[in-house]
Amino acid sequence: MTPAEFRTVAHAAVDLMAEYLERLPAGPVFTPFPPELARAFAAEPAPTAGTPAGEVLADFEGRVAPYPFGNGHPRFYGWVNSPPHPFGIVAEALAATMNPSVAGGNHAAVHVEHQVIRWFAELAGWGPGGTGLTVSGGSDATLTALAVARQRAMARVDSDVRAHGLTGNLLSVYIGPDTHTCARKAVELLGLGSDAIRVVAADAERRILPEALRAAIAEDRAAGVVPMAAVATVGTANTGAVDPVDAIVDVCQEAGVWSHVDGAYGGVAALLLDGYPEARAGMARADSIALDPHKWLGAPVDVGLVLLRDAGAARDCFSLVPPYLRTDGDQGGVAGPVWFSEFGFDQTRPFRALKVWLLLKHLGLDGYRARLAHDLAMADRLADAVAAAPDLELLARGLSVVCFRVRPVPGLEPDPHNDAVLRAVQLGGRAFVSGTAVDGASALRACVINGATEDDIDALVDAVRITSRLLKEQR
Ligand SMILES: *Cc1c(COP(=O)(O)O)cnc(C)c1O
Repeated sequence: MTPAEFRTVAHAAVDLMAEYLERLPAGPVFTPFPPELARAFAAEPAPTAGTPAGEVLADFEGRVAPYPFGNGHPRFYGWVNSPPHPFGIVAEALAATMNPSVAGGNHAAVHVEHQVIRWFAELAGWGPGGTGLTVSGGSDATLTALAVARQRAMARVDSDVRAHGLTGNLLSVYIGPDTHTCARKAVELLGLGSDAIRVVAADAERRILPEALRAAIAEDRAAGVVPMAAVATVGTANTGAVDPVDAIVDVCQEAGVWSHVDGAYGGVAALLLDGYPEARAGMARADSIALDPHKWLGAPVDVGLVLLRDAGAARDCFSLVPPYLRTDGDQGGVAGPVWFSEFGFDQTRPFRALKVWLLLKHLGLDGYRARLAHDLAMADRLADAVAAAPDLELLARGLSVVCFRVRPVPGLEPDPHNDAVLRAVQLGGRAFVSGTAVDGASALRACVINGATEDDIDALVDAVRITSRLLKEQR
């Protein structure tokens, strides 16, 4: 492409993006991908000859853009998926324009990423000595942190896990009933086996009980198991519950167990807002923290972030540079600071930090504070509306997550009716919630991280109530 051709195509693409964003709120929140189109995609061979960029854009516009996931729409409340901030979309294009590998080196992207990591470490109340890096998401952040935790736990039994594996040692990892499945996946991938998972007892709000954690660690230790790590969550994906992080970190430090905080969804609320002093105090002392700017901070997917308190331990876990060849950076030269690839699994790494950097500069911490506070107020509005509706029942509420259901109706099984309402609401296009179970009951679950207005919240409540009434009438 010549520069002139690039300009033409890029301008056309920007127009397409702007129209997409403009049209989005008026359309249905979700439209399933049509089966005939799916069949056409499945049958289409790889193109042998090229096609002019304008025609390819038209294909995107006709067959891809009309069928989004749904996030981006102001009435999308499913899972934990925010709309992209428009400036984040611009950031993605700028990052791709430079297209560096941020494995390391002495180029700007490396320094942008260090700055972003330092900003979050400072927000978390960490002093110097720590490290961190951007990763693909909360799952990757948790895997990275638990890998370092495994290294440390094995070092304590005088074994080098990188060289010798687990050498028959049994390790254990402590989680709560609603800890994200990424912790279990990480434990399995790290070779501990899911038998290593201990689900610690929780209170009525599904928060880990620190005393139960203490007892579980003692029991394992007495049985010859090596307690490796505990995962405390700030905002579970299921109900938004916030574990007593500071108390959990106390138990961990007392027992020499790694404390990891999963703040993928709610960590930023605890760090930016005033309402979560216990969690914030715990995060300030934890061994590692996972945060997901692609959740509540509205950075386009993907960007997660892992903070690791002990930079040396992280480097020992991932570096393949032998200690006698390691350097601590080459500030004026080509090599630059110690390479990110010594602190994580990936070698070629994208310039993910740019979108976080541009958005933080554009919105400021105060801008984010206002956005998060707004979403929490809208979740309050939803919870109040549910509580006030005679036909709805509030089941759980944490951070900006609201779980509720249609009140059981005589003659209708509650769970199947709720499931039917969920599906009809999702396909109805007026609002989108995901489903979950709270204490065994089938529930609708809304996570407000999208800047919804009062009208958007009211539209959700209306959609659920009207759908339920229609389904009842059809019986
Ligand atoms: C989303 C989420 C994760 C997983 O993060 P990904 O970015 O999806 O890999 C982990 N924990 C919580 C609480 C989450 O909300």
